[in-house]
Amino acid sequence: MEETGTERLAPRPHVVLLASPGAGHLIPLAELAWRLVDHHGFAATLVTFTDLSSPDALSGVPATVATAALPSVPLDDLPAGTPMETVLFELVHRSLPSLRALLRSVGAPLAALVPDFFCSSALPLAAELGVPGYVFVPSNLTTIALMRATVELHDGVPPGEYRDLPDPLELPGGVSLRRTDLPRSFQSSGKPVYAHLMEEGRRYLRADGLLVNTFYELEPATVEEFKQAAERGALPPVFPVGPFVRPSTTTDEAAGASACIEWLDRQPTGSVVYVSFGSGGALTVEQTAELAAGLEASGHRFLWVVRMPNLDGHDHEDKQNPLAWLPEGFLGRTADKGLAVAAWAPQVRVLSHPATAVFVSHCGWNSALESVAAGVPMVAWPLYAEQRMNAVVLEGSVGVALRPRARERGEIAAVVRELMEGADKGRAVRRQAGDLQQAAARAWSPEGSSRRALEQAAATWKKVTLAKVK
Ligand code: UDP
Repeated sequence: MEETGTERLAPRPHVVLLASPGAGHLIPLAELAWRLVDHHGFAATLVTFTDLSSPDALSGVPATVATAALPSVPLDDLPAGTPMETVLFELVHRSLPSLRALLRSVGAPLAALVPDFFCSSALPLAAELGVPGYVFVPSNLTTIALMRATVELHDGVPPGEYRDLPDPLELPGGVSLRRTDLPRSFQSSGKPVYAHLMEEGRRYLRADGLLVNTFYELEPATVEEFKQAAERGALPPVFPVGPFVRPSTTTDEAAGASACIEWLDRQPTGSVVYVSFGSGGALTVEQTAELAAGLEASGHRFLWVVRMPNLDGHDHEDKQNPLAWLPEGFLGRTADKGLAVAAWAPQVRVLSHPATAVFVSHCGWNSALESVAAGVPMVAWPLYAEQRMNAVVLEGSVGVALRPRARERGEIAAVVRELMEGADKGRAVRRQAGDLQQAAARAWSPEGSSRRALEQAAATWKKVTLAKVK
């Protein structure tokens, strides 16, 4: 087991945080870890998995946070096509013995174990060691509401039998989700992954607390409903401690992304539509063509991070260069207005650039928070996982996004124009984005809501540690 950093040996109370594979999980958890060290006087170790992680996954973690990677476990017995969620559950489950060994070897008094969303099967280890177990949710409060609704639906249902969630599903904060807006694994109770979700959900509800990558002002009604539920004992206490936004790093520069910033520097303030769909999703070839035509028809400037489209049913010799899949002549016609880059842009810097006005986004939660923190309203274009649910929340109760009714050029152009220049809906969304940008900045100021929420959780952990040491 590889360990780095010196904090591990310090006698300060120690928090161990467990990140499931994927930058989207690790980055916010690393942000949480350094705040626990810098603001609250803990030592912290951020633990991840060797399997399914890139070899340099832990390279960007702040130096004050110690790191450890759990050794590889065999996963090759899982049948081909096993859903990713199931693979993750198995990975965590099979890694528990090495995690237990690591927790027992932490020199200083262990103050808390904080597994992220997919690692809740580690929670019983917290109980075993007599320390609080808090789940870190790298998403919004609706995710917790969905888990809770799924578990409640099955109270009293014989073990091994599962029911479909109602359609639509009404959740706290006025969030109403149609079945098609749910993450796929929640859509059908017949799939084996649904049983895993139930297990996870039951564990979350038994956690000592939930730390969530959101902030009070983003989802106030849901926070209030959850507070009441926690007082009734129907939910663990929920601590909105975000937004934890990925800092811009030098690797962005290494990827040649400074071309984007140089181009933005040459554009007028508030003139550019930034288009990006995160790290995992793909448009179809047809959607790519409609989006290109919609951007062109909107008449606005754009910076488009083009990823390889889904090539099902298409044959083309250029399977490497995503720009080759843009419609014929598009780049030439839009050369004075737009920049298309392949694969990657330094997103946090792009969003906070004064030229950037609107973000066409897949609504991954990290992207959404980055947009909120930069005060940039969104055109919601969800692709998979929990993104459709996020889009509903961002457009509805949060009010910082608009969704095109169809992924068709005329509609795309209309929504882009509405957000860029509209005097009615567009203006309301722009104003809300500006208000929430300020609220996001305040959340981590000395008296801010998120800072206070983390202080509360930290105070509880310290009390437990003191009681144990005495
Ligand atoms: N990102 C980036 N440049 C890109 C695309 C994505 O820097 O061209 C970053 C983005 O800033 C965010 C993360 O990758 O921090 C994507 O996370 P998110 O949760 O939005 O979506 P996912 O990639 O998990 O679908």
